Amino acid sequence: PSPTLRSPDQWCRSFSHFISQCLIKDFEARPSVTHLLEHPFIKQAHGKDVALQQQLAVLIQEQQELGCKTRTKHDRINTRKTLIIERCPDDDLVNLEFLDEEKIISHLQRRYGELQVYTYVGDILIALNPFQNLSIYSPQFSKLYHGVKRADNPPHIFATADAAYQSMVTFCKDQCIIISGESGAGKTESAHLIVQHLTFLGKANNRTLREKILQVNPLVEAFGNACTAINDNSSRFGKYLEMKFTPTGAVIGAKISEYLLEKSRVIKQATGEKNFHIFYYIYAGLYHQDKLKTYRLPDKTPPRYIDSQHCKVVQDIVSSKLYKEQFDAIQECFRNIGFTEEEVISVYRILSAILNTGNIEFASITSQHQTDKSEVPNPEALENAASLLSIGPEELQEALTSQCVVTRGETIIRTNTVDKATDVRDAMSKALYGRLFSWIVNRINSLLQPDMNICAAESGMNVGILDIFGFENFTKNSFEQLCINIANEQIQFYFNQHIFALEQMEYQSEGVDASLVEYEDNRPILDMFLQKPMGLLSLLDEESRFPKATEQTLVDKFEDNLRCKYFWIPKRVELCFGIQHYAGKVMYNVNGFLEKNRDTLPADIVVVLRTSENKLLQQLFSSPLTKTGNLATSRARVTAASRSLPPQLGSGRNKSPKYLLKVDTMEMMRHPGETTSMRRQTVASYFRFSLMDLLSKMVVGKPHFVRCIKPNDDRQALRFCEERVMVQLRYTGILETVSIRRQGYSHRILFEEFVNRYYYLAFRAHKMPETSKENAVAILKRAKLEGWVLGTTKVFLRYYHVEQLNLLLREV
Ligand code: ATP
Ligand code: MG
Repeated sequence: PSPTLRSPDQWCRSFSHFISQCLIKDFEARPSVTHLLEHPFIKQAHGKDVALQQQLAVLIQEQQELGCKTRTKHDRINTRKTLIIERCPDDDLVNLEFLDEEKIISHLQRRYGELQVYTYVGDILIALNPFQNLSIYSPQFSKLYHGVKRADNPPHIFATADAAYQSMVTFCKDQCIIISGESGAGKTESAHLIVQHLTFLGKANNRTLREKILQVNPLVEAFGNACTAINDNSSRFGKYLEMKFTPTGAVIGAKISEYLLEKSRVIKQATGEKNFHIFYYIYAGLYHQDKLKTYRLPDKTPPRYIDSQHCKVVQDIVSSKLYKEQFDAIQECFRNIGFTEEEVISVYRILSAILNTGNIEFASITSQHQTDKSEVPNPEALENAASLLSIGPEELQEALTSQCVVTRGETIIRTNTVDKATDVRDAMSKALYGRLFSWIVNRINSLLQPDMNICAAESGMNVGILDIFGFENFTKNSFEQLCINIANEQIQFYFNQHIFALEQMEYQSEGVDASLVEYEDNRPILDMFLQKPMGLLSLLDEESRFPKATEQTLVDKFEDNLRCKYFWIPKRVELCFGIQHYAGKVMYNVNGFLEKNRDTLPADIVVVLRTSENKLLQQLFSSPLTKTGNLATSRARVTAASRSLPPQLGSGRNKSPKYLLKVDTMEMMRHPGETTSMRRQTVASYFRFSLMDLLSKMVVGKPHFVRCIKPNDDRQALRFCEERVMVQLRYTGILETVSIRRQGYSHRILFEEFVNRYYYLAFRAHKMPETSKENAVAILKRAKLEGWVLGTTKVFLRYYHVEQLNLLLREV
């Protein structure tokens, strides 16, 4: 232990920290553990501290169980590093004496160098991306982080999952884990680890259910993730996974909601980037099954949609061991989760059809009478696509090269130019992929629905895990980046509300004296995007409705109407605008904004796809498929949430801003580009609804925050770039969070609820005392808690008090 640790308390914490690491990770350290047990400090504490005693017992047992396992050289090297870090126990920034930025950075840097990637700020977890596999996620670690006090173990993502789980079981309340951070910071990996630990905690004895739940993420991510310039496995959609539990905490099912898939990636990727993973996986997998011909996939030149500098020839894809392995894994996921063989084949057919569709070319035919007509010079691609989609090739060609227009009651056929036909082709590919993705998600949900015989759905509880696409700032940013960054802006706003605004409001209304902490409020930026009718998204929608609008008129409209310091038009760069986001300045190029927002899918294409003999395809285009599954439920939830949202987050009766909920939910639930209504649904309006839908799910649960930080841009292990970390700490408001957590009370419980829950600690079990303020105080005193305060109706507790109370409760 460090010589700076003077008191037995500090020493014990350090010891417990140390022992947990070395017992689990390094068996060579056993002699020193035994030696430490003899230390007078630990002997003294051992007698007093029940929790520590218990933990030591678990650890020693763990050590015995694990001791026989052999260790690799690599593990030993890691372990040595770990042993050194154990000499630094300050794993919660709230406990540090200093609070200036530089010292916090160097503190985190030292920890990172010692492979301590997790650090607390009170109840918030900071996770630095290690960019290497750490051996701290084994089942033994799951056991270690099961129902113990947070302070007993080093910070860990499992501890956050455990806290959410314990809180759900104790308070019978839904929980929500919000993982944020920029692209490549480690959100998706963290989400996987949380699911892993929750399935462990949820006693998923039913092995099949456990496997199914663990396979949801890999399956959905094969379709929704892709290699970008920043991250080889970048999420190109937002994901909210709800794990469902019985009131006693047994896991019984899961539900996934997806938000705003970046469909444009199907047809085009930026330089150096790739299409969605699944296209490469099926190519490699089907090749090895000798089925490229069956799925009409070319075996020399890759289809245009996946042709990039990464894969100039098919051999580059099919020779990848990784793709082949991933294909096998995905097949396994499909099977385990419960997709039928027929469904999986249909999925592969649709994916192959999309690749063939991308290969359809158009050439213009110029005759005396018609100049704007196009034809398909490579009919084999068209035939392949049509055959895989089980539709007629002629009908498909017709729908691509012409369109029916109804004017004054008369139907006229207009021919498409080459450019128009190409756009229609790409729109069809995007629609096919987008709807297929939604269908897969809905299908997973129906297969993982809780069994009503085990537990009535309404009596269950859930832990939701939010993993969205991270903040992005490329050299060239387009409409997709704008949507991604607005979503991140909204999550940051939610964080601010919970950590700062709501907390401080409650202190005031309860008469609790706590000094206010200044923080960067990003509400004006959100207002600028979402306000109606003059917010950026509304202006974009308005302009998208003018057929004659151009990118220049759009920029002009923005310039005329958006007058705030967060928006500017650069002088020398054309067709661009800049935004000062909470996470930094981003320059957006408006090229393609209007078309991407309209996301039009001509009715002719829908009509022809509906004639398909393929059952799945019929389903995808039979009716407006809702993203959220059941339209009525979704609508009801959004409406209900609008009533229960705190005013800052919603549209409290007389409060502004109302933009978040002033959406016609019915309209919003149609797919963008849907032509069945008088007014076409745009991506921006759908996006606005999606954000609200997401928020409505999040606000019902108690939030837990994980803030992922990317230590460098080169994806290198052990490289800590101070500048980059500093920027991320600044924009996420970590310093302010430290202050508020240091003086704050993150749990505020009504006297009545408090006495009901904890009266066992001070009163006789069979005699329920009066639920008064005095009795609440009696319990607090009996539990020997320090540092709590009383409001007019509530007990204000620090984040660690509830853990202490729950542990005591378990011991009674
Ligand atoms: P995006 O916003 O682009 O989806 P993200 O925040 O979800 O990014 P991840 O895909 O989770 O980022 O992480 C990027 C990469 O960092 C991973 O592919 C992995 O290589 C590495 N990584 C992240 N977290 C861990 C971890 N806990 N252990 C080991 N490697 C990790
Ligand atoms: Mg991700």
